[in-house]
Amino acid sequence: MAKKDKAVVGIDLGGTKMLVGVVQGRKVLASVKAKTDPAGGEREFFATIAATVAKALDEAGLKPGRLAAVGAGCPGVLDIKTDRIVSSANIPFIKDYPLARKLEKLLKVPAAVENDANMGLFGEQRFGAARGCGHVAGFFLGTGIGGALILNGELYRGSSGAAGELGHIFVDAMGPACGCGNRGCLEALAGRLALAGEAASLAARGGAPHLLKEAGADVRKLKSGALSRAVEAGDRQLRDLVKRKAALVGLAMANVVNTLDPECIVLGGGLVEAMGEIIVPAAEESMRRHAMPDIAKHVAVAPAKLGDLAIVMGAAQWARERLDA
Ligand SMILES: [Zn+2]
Repeated sequence: MAKKDKAVVGIDLGGTKMLVGVVQGRKVLASVKAKTDPAGGEREFFATIAATVAKALDEAGLKPGRLAAVGAGCPGVLDIKTDRIVSSANIPFIKDYPLARKLEKLLKVPAAVENDANMGLFGEQRFGAARGCGHVAGFFLGTGIGGALILNGELYRGSSGAAGELGHIFVDAMGPACGCGNRGCLEALAGRLALAGEAASLAARGGAPHLLKEAGADVRKLKSGALSRAVEAGDRQLRDLVKRKAALVGLAMANVVNTLDPECIVLGGGLVEAMGEIIVPAAEESMRRHAMPDIAKHVAVAPAKLGDLAIVMGAAQWARERLDA
């Protein structure tokens, strides 16, 4: 059977959910979502992966023998020398962990694992918003802010595997504490949790009546969809808050532009999917204001195109290329 006729499974492996896709060439033949509960332990976690992969293969009408490889994108820092994941914030048992070897044993095909934001940008560069661009930076605005770099057409992994942590670009000396242990990182100021915190306080003060009515002022309930609906319904101060957060993202983008002279910056993640029409232009305008004009004039800013499937498609393609599958 020709290599191109074999399918590769791509897994977007998160701390609360996973998305498994069966990919052949550029086509996603089937994709299946499942909840993950890493607190339930390693065995249960892998049983969920095996069951979800089996379901996806079944939906794609493929026998397990037609599977060439598996690729997974997972939150956390990878050590490329040992091919182990150093740590993953949402999956407690992943510490200096050989996830690729574990997946190989579980699914009986070669496996490749990378950071989830890296795989999202890889997918967008191979198939989506940055197709054909050799130099690309990606900012993924979700609960936190993921980042990734592609230089000379290849994923830039750095000396140890941790490159591209663009969410931890320093933007404010007086800024709040960040999950990484520092203060004033972009993520701590402009990730969804930071936005939700300020939106909740705005709602509690009476500045976002639609948000207060729909979702209250509980930070945990202020997900991207609720924020977006309140903005649509007319919460002007909330819209301004979203724009100010996007301008901070633009500040970090300007640093990346001046350092790397990319062709394209891709903005993705749940916040951009929900409010891209506000966030993308505000971030772009701020980038152009803060970057060196002669460099910034070459840079395109584009919203991600592959949505939920970016990591799945990126991870499948990564496995195909890395493992020559
Ligand atoms: Zn940080």
